[in-house]
Amino acid sequence: MQTKPKNKKPAGEASTTFQSVKGMHDVLPAESCVQEKIYRLAREILEFYNFNSIATPLVEYLGLYNRTTGEATDIVEKQMFTLKTKGGETLALRPEFTPGIGRAYIQHGMSHYPHPVKLFTIGPLFRYEQPQAGRFRQFNQIDAEIFSTENDAIYDAQGILACYRILDELKIKNLIININTIGCITCRPNYRKALVSYYKNKEKQLCTDCKRRLPVNPLRLLDCKEPICQPLKEQAPNTLDYVCATCKKHFKEVLEYLDNLALPYALNPYLVRGLDYYSKTVFEINTQPAEGEEKIDFALGGGGRYDYLIEELGGRPTSAFGWALGVERIIDVLHTRNILPSSRPKEKVFLIHIGDLAKRKSLCLIETLRHAHINVIESLGKESLAAQLRAADKADAPLALIFGQKEAYEESIIIRDMKTGAQEMVPLTKLPEMIKRKLN
Ligand code: AMP
Repeated sequence: MQTKPKNKKPAGEASTTFQSVKGMHDVLPAESCVQEKIYRLAREILEFYNFNSIATPLVEYLGLYNRTTGEATDIVEKQMFTLKTKGGETLALRPEFTPGIGRAYIQHGMSHYPHPVKLFTIGPLFRYEQPQAGRFRQFNQIDAEIFSTENDAIYDAQGILACYRILDELKIKNLIININTIGCITCRPNYRKALVSYYKNKEKQLCTDCKRRLPVNPLRLLDCKEPICQPLKEQAPNTLDYVCATCKKHFKEVLEYLDNLALPYALNPYLVRGLDYYSKTVFEINTQPAEGEEKIDFALGGGGRYDYLIEELGGRPTSAFGWALGVERIIDVLHTRNILPSSRPKEKVFLIHIGDLAKRKSLCLIETLRHAHINVIESLGKESLAAQLRAADKADAPLALIFGQKEAYEESIIIRDMKTGAQEMVPLTKLPEMIKRKLN
């Protein structure tokens, strides 16, 4: 008898219990709390430097990324999550923020706003990568962009400073800014030519991807992490020997500003970053291992100048500088180094109700406490006093409020000190004031 071939389902798509999609994770409360703290700090810092928040959709037309990120980049070649709508449009889940923000800048006439226009956003991105440590298919970034009328190196420096400051205030030590210039449309062709001629006849010593990329996007060869490509890369022509006088001057100014700010940087003449739209300054921020610590192989963030992107998208020529920080990678470093941001837990009081009348009045009582800015925990569905006292204990609440039938009837309540067990009956009208007194 012939057996029908089984319709094999992808891992995680089991018929009874589902798992999250490969490379995409649930952020559980403990990590979500850390994430929120990072976001709050980032917002505070970016708002100080006059960045305003913007939110763009999770999906854009696929063509936007082909045009900007570049067709010979890993993101566009291999990592896009694309979808076709019923209306026949081809869309992509955003793999990075800059093209969407550039599109929004043009679409909403931001070129007429007073410049510089400084924008930031925080949220999820999607890349179809092979999941591994520090690499996910859905991950979060903090992203900042500066659009300006002047192509001034001071914006590069201020952009890098804001990015550095977030990591620094998270107490990540040994930060290093790897920085380079990749020139402009005038001088980059010379550098490309030098690279192509250097790699010519050496194709056999390159990985398959680099062989293919050499004629299309030779700068990408410097980005390759494949071991086979490393020896050639180390001898490759250096960008600094090929950039024009204007780009050299710009780069020198950026470095002088960084010197003035005493920011730690290292020149890396082979840093090009994977995307097509960069020009002049490119940078990445890494953290160097402390003594006895394993090397952290990934950059926490990076970015650079992209002076042609807005024009490429149909806008006016606009100078721009931007960067993105990887949130999961930051959290990973905070975990490894045991420096997760801590905060004093908010003191909460635990409300215990006994009987129907008290239960009915509890919701209103919680509202009174909310108005007085007192945090309350409860387990309203539980009826027994013992179970609620146990819950209060577990919650580590310093005070419990015992709201019994008699108290509910008499508009009073018992405040119990959970450490000493001392109890005091107070009228409901005095409750907020009494709680505040006892908590201080
Ligand atoms: P990029 O947009 O590729 O320049 O990346 C900026 C930062 O985002 C990197 O330095 C990483 O910290 C983070 N990042 C990029 N790709 C991923 C990924 N697949 N998973 C987690 N974080 C990522």
